[in-house]
Amino acid sequence: MHAFQGRTVLLDRDKTLNADPGYLSDPGLVELLPGVVIGLQKLQSAGFQFIVLTNQSGVGRGLITPEQLYAVNLRILELLQRDHIRIERIYYCPHLDEDACSCRKPAPGLVDAALLDFQLDPGRTWVMGDRFRDLACAAHRKIPGILIGDEEGKPEDWGSKAPENLIHQAPDLSSAADLILKSGLR
Ligand SMILES: [Zn+2]
Repeated sequence: MHAFQGRTVLLDRDKTLNADPGYLSDPGLVELLPGVVIGLQKLQSAGFQFIVLTNQSGVGRGLITPEQLYAVNLRILELLQRDHIRIERIYYCPHLDEDACSCRKPAPGLVDAALLDFQLDPGRTWVMGDRFRDLACAAHRKIPGILIGDEEGKPEDWGSKAPENLIHQAPDLSSAADLILKSGLR
């Protein structure tokens, strides 16, 4: 397999792509967030591909069946496809914190799986999510991260909790896309 020559954004799912009512199990409730379609369109036009990495402990807790998770993921893909946005793959971790697995973010397992499976160059990859752990999972590969939204509170209160690869904060995915495109070719 040849190394992928293009650029990639590793995306969190809940509260990054879609609204999150908590343990989302009904595909009928899937709603994309404002700025998602336009942001992904801008990046896709610039040659980026997208891979989703998502913690889904609701599966491990028995609150979401694997079939429901699949249906929700499919619905997200469908909604994006309407606007011609393609997601290469969705990786998920079904575990709980106490399972101490290697894939629940901020653990690096999902990022490493994507890098390996798609032969990604970490130097041409970005990561986005609404929580520190969504970025921290990629810090070991020095993949720059953009925090989306204000789930983690104000920057002045972050202190040492902010992951070292957090380089920007953006109110939504469209603004995050602009930051990437303005940063020049990475
Ligand atoms: Zn896991």
